[in-house]
Amino acid sequence: MAADLVLLSPMAGWTAALDEVPDPVFAERMLGDGVAIEPTEGLLCAPCDATVISVHAARHAVTLRAAGGVDVLIHIGLETVALGGEGFEAYVSDGQAVTAGQRLIGFDLDRLARRAKSLISPMVITDLAGCTMALRQTGRLVAAGEPLIELTPGEATASEPAPVAGPTVERRLVIPMIHGLHARPAARVAELAKTFPAEVSLATVNRRANAKSPVGVMTLGLRHGDAVLLTATGDQAEAAVAAVAVLIEGGMGEGAPVAAAPGPSETPATALANPGQLRGVMAAPGLAVGKAVRLFRAEIAVVEAGAGSAHEEAALSAALAQVRSRIAVMAGEGDKARRSILGAHAAFLEDPELTGQARRRIGEGKSAGFAWKAAVGDYVEALRGLRDPRMAERVDDLVDLERRVLQALAGEEDRAPDLPSGSILLAEELLPSQLMALDASRLAGICTAKGGPTSHVAILAGAMGVPCLVAAGPSVAAIPDGTCLILDADAGSLQVAPATAALEAAQTALAARHQRRAAARATAREDCRMADGTRIEVFANLGSLGDAQGALAAGAEGCGLLRTEFLFLERETAPDEDEQAAQYRAIAEALEGRPLIVRLLDVGGDKSAAYLPIAAEENPALGVRGVRVLLRRPRLLGAQLRAILRGAPGAKIMAPMVASLAELKAVRSALDEARRDIAFEGRVDLGVMIETPAAAMIADQLAGEADFLSVGTNDLTQYTLAMDRGNPELAAEVDALHPAVLRLIAAAAEGGRKHSLWTGVCGGLAGDVAAAPILIGLGITELSMPGAAIAEVKSMIRTLSPGACRKLAAEALAQDSPQAVRALSNTFLTGGA
Ligand code: PEP
Ligand code: MG
Repeated sequence: MAADLVLLSPMAGWTAALDEVPDPVFAERMLGDGVAIEPTEGLLCAPCDATVISVHAARHAVTLRAAGGVDVLIHIGLETVALGGEGFEAYVSDGQAVTAGQRLIGFDLDRLARRAKSLISPMVITDLAGCTMALRQTGRLVAAGEPLIELTPGEATASEPAPVAGPTVERRLVIPMIHGLHARPAARVAELAKTFPAEVSLATVNRRANAKSPVGVMTLGLRHGDAVLLTATGDQAEAAVAAVAVLIEGGMGEGAPVAAAPGPSETPATALANPGQLRGVMAAPGLAVGKAVRLFRAEIAVVEAGAGSAHEEAALSAALAQVRSRIAVMAGEGDKARRSILGAHAAFLEDPELTGQARRRIGEGKSAGFAWKAAVGDYVEALRGLRDPRMAERVDDLVDLERRVLQALAGEEDRAPDLPSGSILLAEELLPSQLMALDASRLAGICTAKGGPTSHVAILAGAMGVPCLVAAGPSVAAIPDGTCLILDADAGSLQVAPATAALEAAQTALAARHQRRAAARATAREDCRMADGTRIEVFANLGSLGDAQGALAAGAEGCGLLRTEFLFLERETAPDEDEQAAQYRAIAEALEGRPLIVRLLDVGGDKSAAYLPIAAEENPALGVRGVRVLLRRPRLLGAQLRAILRGAPGAKIMAPMVASLAELKAVRSALDEARRDIAFEGRVDLGVMIETPAAAMIADQLAGEADFLSVGTNDLTQYTLAMDRGNPELAAEVDALHPAVLRLIAAAAEGGRKHSLWTGVCGGLAGDVAAAPILIGLGITELSMPGAAIAEVKSMIRTLSPGACRKLAAEALAQDSPQAVRALSNTFLTGGA
């Protein structure tokens, strides 16, 4: 460029430095340096003479090329791609020459003010073409056409860069981002591509772009479901393709299922095989690479008419006895999870109603098979009719029994398929007995078309350590036996027949994961400190004495949540004070003097105790539960408080489901009374669980009366999002990383800080590796989680610094979805932007 270039304000409005744009893509100048304008009129004009490189399909952004190859992107408002063009009118088209001040795009300012995340509109120079940039003063009102930026040409560059030599690696991708590869994902792709020495490009049928140029990537105009060819040449080409592919295919927090393989007209020159990704709900965590083994059940046919009731009765009795004894054998071989599920199956088989109904039908002349099927069918209908998702999941158990008894009647062997090592099992719905019959050591993963994340199959898979994805949809049935698969249960995806590069990337990730786990386990028992020495306590959630022993072995530094209701679940009568004291003592002793936080009984809602009947409620989750039960039963509360003081005098006490200061004060006075009753002299801390939005919002008031706060993210999420935590259909959406939940956690930590109290987290989010740095950044200093999560969370925390966590947390609070928060944190944890 020979002469200076002046960029005029493209719109009337208030100018601001890019740092003030609440979007890291612009604020951190991932797309380039420039300025932002908060518009006061709905018209965007050309800032200089230029050629239009592209007007985005959603008409919210335009890229221009000025003299000397300077590229300028103007983005109207933030996250306006989601408006899909609504409220925007383009006056120019791609390739058109425009003059400074010419109208480019008109927009409806009022509509934007209502619908967009922000009106602030960045103008960035995505390619300086060797110029230096000078920005005029910002923070003032400007008219369209006022000079804002001067660009001065630098020294001419010596020569064109030499063409890169070396291997070329290609990978075909389908764009999963719902709004396509717009500015933000394009910036991320370029950021990542730039970290590799290889030349990296993205190509459609008629356009190719340098993947290291955000604007180049954007101008491909790739939309959701479009196919694109990713190519890298030269040093680390393979790694570059693998990394960029994982980033794009991961959806960057904006992924949505892609309906079908793109048609041939949309594909790049080389024919495209859609890599195919199915989405599902995680039922057991983990990553697996393996081969598909299909397990789709055939219906077992039954004839209606029996061959005499005596004959059919005898046949049914023999079949029931056979299944019963098989269950007994399996229970004898299994772990706790298996035994309890098989116990439920055995109870169904003994159910006099069920067998009575079958026998009644046999008496009416039906065959044993028909009668059994009909009796089970009635039960299934009845359970489904309760419209309770947890009951509906028990239907699996009944269907399982139906099949096993029918098999026994037909004289069929209940043979498990032969599993080659590294199998990923595919099924429409898996029955508990089918899973138990399999050789877990050969099972790499499970993916079912239907099913819910709290089903018995999910619990079994978790206990077996097998990653499991459920509700992945009917396409699962179309996957042939032997197909290569990547099952990423944590990300909720099943990748079918992945390309070599993705496969290698997954295998590398798997090997790294194993290594990381082993390394994490090796240091799990050491105290947890951040890189600068800041102490973060990592505790375990316990529900039994057995849990305590396992948790210590896993590296727990204490117990941040003892769920006392679990200690006495399978009882008909309430445990008396002495029994309780003995249990608390045993657990405190097992912890060998480490901190113990005992939560007062939390029954009601989804947790029932036979000895504490609670009247049927229209809406139990919003009914008498947690502290509300205790305050209505002062004798029960008093007995538990005294039992804790006697059995575990060093323990802290925590009240569940608090929603008001009055409740906390009432528990405090019950505690004072219990102390007087037994002349307890020592100190005892009383904490509050923050698990209602109300408690989070008045955390500062609660902190004035409490000794510590602990956030229960399971309930806090359920009540904030108004989504039942046990509803399998909503399982994917009940995500505690929702920014609304994070903002409430921030309020809780802030409330604690005001009174110099510590705030911990004891809900499921504490054990989520992607969440821990955000929680720490929000001011959480204690995390309590299931024992199995401790080693990895500790080893990750050791790499963190408080400052970086605070910055991450601030960004997380500004995200607009749990997916975006997760993507942000994953990028942070993998050392990205
Ligand atoms: C919570 O709600 O997050 C919590 C820890 O309590 P529970 O899961 O026992 O309801
Ligand atoms: Mg709770």
